[in-house]
Amino acid sequence: MKDALTAPWLTELVRTCTNMYAHGWDERNGGNISVLLSEDRLADYVYLTNVLRRIPTGFSAPALEGKYFLVTGTGKYFKNVQYDPAANLGVVRLADGGQTAELLWGFTDGGQFTSEFPAHMMSHAVWLGIDPAHRVVMHCHPDNLLAMTYVHDLDERAFTRTLWQMETECIVVFPEGVNVLPWMVCGTNEIGEATAEKMKTARLVVWAQHGIYGAGRDLDETFGLIETAEKAAGIYMKIAHLPWKQTITDEGLHRLEARFGVKARAGWLEPLAT
Ligand SMILES: [Zn+2]
Repeated sequence: MKDALTAPWLTELVRTCTNMYAHGWDERNGGNISVLLSEDRLADYVYLTNVLRRIPTGFSAPALEGKYFLVTGTGKYFKNVQYDPAANLGVVRLADGGQTAELLWGFTDGGQFTSEFPAHMMSHAVWLGIDPAHRVVMHCHPDNLLAMTYVHDLDERAFTRTLWQMETECIVVFPEGVNVLPWMVCGTNEIGEATAEKMKTARLVVWAQHGIYGAGRDLDETFGLIETAEKAAGIYMKIAHLPWKQTITDEGLHRLEARFGVKARAGWLEPLAT
């Protein structure tokens, strides 16, 4: 059996947590990540028949029965993950229709998975139904997206259109736009269900006055989605209070669709004049 601390799936998540902390997106114990892992990738590093603890999840997710997740721990600080991955991260397998998480590795100080586990697992279930290559759910608190939820209309079309206009790359990176949840109490099944519902039509879901959720096929893609939206929000927060002389027009956004072979969410761009 190889040392799990040397596993590529572990080192990649450690690097991602460190990087996100460096971006200022994960103050204190803010933020959480879960990565769906195949049995093949785990088998050389983790004894899959040795259940260390059985932890109730408080929800059911039959679609995820038997699936393995590497997940950040509740109350853990992203800044500390690199110094003690085995205490701050854990590998769990969902059992009993998702109502139990079987701990197979990690959480060595008696901890458990993030308090946002319901939002993560419900989002994974939605995205696996849409894209079999889906693997990652990521949550964090980027400053500018958060700030934008105080001063910008939370209407999803309006919010997305502003982001698309702030940087040419945006419509290429997230043509489906971002969805927005109004402020809610976090860490509950209710916000988990609401997030998963919003995930059905977009990989990015903004939690007003809290942060953002991203879903993707790997850590780089998911990080890059959030990074791009956050960059755009940063431009917006720099210029929102200034008179605008110009922006990217809908005609320009249609030309980007054509150039990069993407399709904006139906109805979120004005139709081209004929
Ligand atoms: Zn949060």
